[in-house]
Amino acid sequence: MPTLPAHPNCRCALSAYWKDEKSNVEVARLKRKKNTEKRVTINKEKQRKLIAEFRKNGGKVWQDAEAEAYLKKKGANAIVLSEDLIALKNKPTISEVLEELYHVKQFRDGKIDLTNVSRYKAEIEAQNYLLSVKNLYNIPKEEILETKANLQYWKERLKNEKNRNY
Ligand SMILES: [Zn+2]
Repeated sequence: MPTLPAHPNCRCALSAYWKDEKSNVEVARLKRKKNTEKRVTINKEKQRKLIAEFRKNGGKVWQDAEAEAYLKKKGANAIVLSEDLIALKNKPTISEVLEELYHVKQFRDGKIDLTNVSRYKAEIEAQNYLLSVKNLYNIPKEEILETKANLQYWKERLKNEKNRNY
């Protein structure tokens, strides 16, 4: 089972890691979880095109029943496990694929280390990236809303983390 680097979760809204949070943002996300039945998923061909460059650079996608179970256990919809490996649901959304690929780049650029600050900053950057390409990739409205909520959430986490440290 791959474990490094320990970037816990992406499209992290649903992650078990954060479920004990009681902030307003968290409440909003838990509500949104119920709406995720309306997921707009992408087909294999579209996924293949999106990950072509990642594959060419040696990247691998873990996407089978085992991966599905792993994601479920982690409470995430997608996870980047290392700079060469991402785990996706069998039927991922375009936001999930784009976000993980973006995190891969961040790993390769050395932007993510084991500190929470680096991870929160990486998440903020990733959500901003998703918002910047929403028209380019025709990202569904539901996912844009989720991304905006995620952005707020990570900003809050970062702020709390900084208050703790200084
Ligand atoms: Zn993420």
